[in-house]
Amino acid sequence: MIDIHSHFFPLITEATAKQFDSQRAPWLRVNENGDRGDIMFGDQPFRPVYPALWDADYRVKELDAQGVDVQITCATPIMFGYTWDASKAAEWARQMNDEAIAFCSKYPDRLKALSQVPLQDTKLACAEASRAQAAGCIGVQIGNHMGDKDLDHPDLVDFLIHCAEESIPVFVHPWDMMGGEGRMKKWMLPWLVAMPAETQLGMLSLILSGALERIPESLKICFAHGGGSFAYTLGRVDNAWKHRDIVRQDCPRPPSEYAGRLHTDAAVFDHAALNLLVNTMGEDRVMMGSDYPFPLGEQPIGSLINSAPDLAPEQRSKLLAGNARTFFNLG
Ligand SMILES: [Zn+2]
Repeated sequence: MIDIHSHFFPLITEATAKQFDSQRAPWLRVNENGDRGDIMFGDQPFRPVYPALWDADYRVKELDAQGVDVQITCATPIMFGYTWDASKAAEWARQMNDEAIAFCSKYPDRLKALSQVPLQDTKLACAEASRAQAAGCIGVQIGNHMGDKDLDHPDLVDFLIHCAEESIPVFVHPWDMMGGEGRMKKWMLPWLVAMPAETQLGMLSLILSGALERIPESLKICFAHGGGSFAYTLGRVDNAWKHRDIVRQDCPRPPSEYAGRLHTDAAVFDHAALNLLVNTMGEDRVMMGSDYPFPLGEQPIGSLINSAPDLAPEQRSKLLAGNARTFFNLG
């Protein structure tokens, strides 16, 4: 099995993080025994975590127990630094990418890293994506937006064109969720409602803007969490395209025709949803991704696909490994 969606967070001290952002620096607070920790956001605990997040030995033992052959890991989105001064964010991204490569280096056949980039500056972002790729990353992770800029913004389209031209696979993760503090502060609603909407917004930004007409078809781009709300609402989007010229104005073809340009992971936690996703995206464009080692991740890894009653054996093997091998050039 190849797991394409997992996160790491290096042992960043408070002092190091605060050199980059004195108020909202992300860092890791680990307890005395070293067996529990918290991702900290400034002075506030953001999420309880355990050693799989920062300890490669611990992680690979868990992967062994769950039958995962290869796991692709990337930054926890709180590490993006997109609101910082660009040169600071570039320096941070370089450090975090070197940490990611070091994290994977002890198990080069088992752990692979995606880079992060200072997306607020396209030139610096392109340079770091290329540098990190040459240094050993197998793709780049970006957030689904950069402040008010969605993926159709010319700066972000330029970044995606760079990735297409340099054959750097892109993984898009939702972050900085819409809805703010007011209406979605309880019950993890930002994760349950806003995150799927953010992902769908990223996908529709690329489609309805016509950006996919300008980006080379060679771009490999994968969206997290089964593409969020995308597959379930695509019929609604096609219907709107058919009946309203304002939906058609920048998008020459029915939106569903562009699904074949996009990939998603399979983190949907429900067999009927997985069937819909495979039907919508195509069996070559869905890849197992667990969101390990966080509490909302799949446990055990791969269980949804392994137990899916409607997948043919060949489809199962594509979703569990074959598609990821092709997407990330794993040979
Ligand atoms: Zn994730």
